[in-house]
Amino acid sequence: MSQTLHLKAYAKVNLGLDVIRRREDGYHEVRMIMQTVRLFDRLSLTKNQSGQITLSVNLPYLPVNEKNLVYRAIDIIRKNYHISEGIHADINKRIPVAAGMAGGSSDAAAAFVGMNQMFDLGISQETLMEYAVGLGADIPYCIMRGTALSEGIGEKLTPLPPMPDCWFLIVKPVFSMSTRFVYENLRLDESTCHPDIDGMVAALKNQDLTGITDRMGNVLEQVTQEHFPQIREIKDCMRQEGALNALMSGSGSTVFSIFTSRKAAEAAGRVCRDRFQIKQTAVVCPFNKPHVRSRILSRPNRGEQQK
Ligand code: ATP
Repeated sequence: MSQTLHLKAYAKVNLGLDVIRRREDGYHEVRMIMQTVRLFDRLSLTKNQSGQITLSVNLPYLPVNEKNLVYRAIDIIRKNYHISEGIHADINKRIPVAAGMAGGSSDAAAAFVGMNQMFDLGISQETLMEYAVGLGADIPYCIMRGTALSEGIGEKLTPLPPMPDCWFLIVKPVFSMSTRFVYENLRLDESTCHPDIDGMVAALKNQDLTGITDRMGNVLEQVTQEHFPQIREIKDCMRQEGALNALMSGSGSTVFSIFTSRKAAEAAGRVCRDRFQIKQTAVVCPFNKPHVRSRILSRPNRGEQQK
């Protein structure tokens, strides 16, 4: 009988993103405060006897071959654990694509966790994260989830106390952003305004919401706002509509803001949608549950494993 495992792959935002320097190998050394939010893709993994990895995705422009990070995560585990059975992965995307919310990385993280569960491999989270970093710097964090300080190229992770209760308004402008383009055009000099990451860590420890929001900052905005002034306009609009603060996530183009009231966040979302012809908006809360390993495999059409 075929067995299907259903997983949720959650998006992240960067409450703070600082770039320290460009390393000789071309990677950038970063200091980022990561926060998982309750906006997710669905990933279903089904075993079969084909001996192949196959993919289906609800967005026709996304790859269904080895260019998809899910394919590569499954492939890594199959090869390392000599798994001969075939796997079909169905990806239902809701996280905006190429938007600075780690959608692809989170799908890959769910695939690593799912393969471990499905074949009862007993791989520790630490080992899974070591496989993951070879595929993408943000994937280990997407396995860990929650609130974290991310350093190095994104692989040095320190868990932090969870974000205090709040609501995130997430707005994806019509244009997308290439992470590569943004980093290649980043010029760090004396005029660069670096966010106060240590201050934000202290504010998280004190559960001081305005201490956190007052320190929101992203050095990559200096590149993206120059090419797409609408990013600044959306942030200004969100603040005018009552947000404690607003910021671009990752390398963009998603802009998010923080509210204490869900209603206010939804109202601001409607204003942004109408003013900037936005197609993708969401109001979500922080998500802080780690990936949990479960031994029970679902049969087709049965409930979800991973909450
Ligand atoms: P990050 O925040 O990590 O920079 P992002 O949100 O900017 O990520 P993604 O949505 O993860 O970007 O995808 C960027 C590119 O990666 C896409 O254009 C797509 O071609 C490729 N990709 C590979 N696998 C996936 C996947 N499972 N979901 C989305 N994109 C994927």
